Formats: sequence, structure tokens, C-alpha cells
Amino acid sequence: MEQIPGMISNPYHPPAPGYDDPHAGIDLADRMAGSQVALQGKAVQAALSGRVAMIVHDRFPFGNALVIETPLEDLPADWWPAANIPTPAPTLAPRSALTCPANLQTEMGASAAPGGRRSLYTLYAHLQSTPAAWQLGDQVACGQSIGAIGETGNALNPHLHFETRVGPAGMQMPGMSHYDSGARPEEMAAYCLWSVSGLFQLVDPQAVLALPAAQPGAP
Ligand SMILES: [Zn+2]
Repeated sequence: MEQIPGMISNPYHPPAPGYDDPHAGIDLADRMAGSQVALQGKAVQAALSGRVAMIVHDRFPFGNALVIETPLEDLPADWWPAANIPTPAPTLAPRSALTCPANLQTEMGASAAPGGRRSLYTLYAHLQSTPAAWQLGDQVACGQSIGAIGETGNALNPHLHFETRVGPAGMQMPGMSHYDSGARPEEMAAYCLWSVSGLFQLVDPQAVLALPAAQPGAP
């Protein structure tokens, strides 16, 4: 945990509602000692236990990525106010700066039941290889190795993009992609849902890493 500040190569700079930039997560890089050269291959450990909610196979912009869902009731109750999670859950952002599929509203309306249970979702992106071993719903233990630092997707150098959001419990999505002519409508819908719909509320990743059970992204 004490190594985390030194590993941050690009800090959290939360986007305004409806936007996906400047930076919705933190980037963690494994730099060669005494230099700025970032290395691939270091094991990425799950910061929290939970279940696999999304698997992305080398798609732009997140590359190979995994999303893990942790129910809020599994986290310390006094962490909620510290993490500034709005209560009750917000309504959906009416417009987005992105091009999003027209059926998104319907899809979101079905899953955004007011007063429903919520979960913390943690995204691990730009992993070195396709997380082929994982299936949706798989249980992940805190500290378990879930992949290796890579530079797949929208990454100019090897790093882990770690992004944390609170959203409706039980969400499972087949994958997400955007900014790519090959992105399928359902992948774009999932990206819009995750990044700009307002359904998944951003939480400062360092507030998540400060949780008692949380571990650094790499040993
Ligand atoms: Zn990033």
C-alpha cells in the first residue's frame, strides 16, 4: 500500500458528468529502478474480493480488462461517507458527449431501479493478455492475481488503469468498446453505460485502495 503513491504515472482527474475525460481512474506503472522506463508483466492483484462482472478481450480503449463487483454491504459502513458516494443513487445523465446507441435508455431504465442495492465495481485495464481463464460470475479473492501489467488498448506504455465506480448490484456486461469502427452496438452501449450514463458513479480509486482489505495493484 505504501508503494502506491510512487507507482502513479497518471493521477485521477474525474470527468464532468457525461464525459469520459480527462481521467476517470489512476494509472499505476511498474518502473525500472532509477528510471522512468515502465515494465510489462508484473502481476496485478485484485484490490478487493468480489465477482467478475465484465471481461474485455483486447478492445479499444481498455484493451484486455476485467471488472470485479464487490457488494457495498461487504465494505466497512464508515467508508461510504469517506468515499462520497451520493445517496440515493442519481438519475441518469440525459445527454452524453459521446456517440451512444439509441437503445441505451431502455437498457439503463431496466437496470436502474431506484432504491436498489448497489455495488462497488473495480476496473483493471490494459492487461498484458486476454483474461481467458475468467468467466462472468467467477469469485475473486482479495489479493488474487488476475493478470499482468500490459499496454493493450489505448496505452502508450505499460501500466494498469484502475477505475472504481458504484453502480446497481448484479450488473454483468459482455464487454465494452468505443472509439473504434469495429465496436459492436452492445459493446458501445456497455461503454456508455459504464463511462458516461451516470449510472456508475465515480469513486476516487485511492479511497478504494485505502480500504482495510485492499491491496496494492502489484506486490
Ligand atoms: Zn488510465
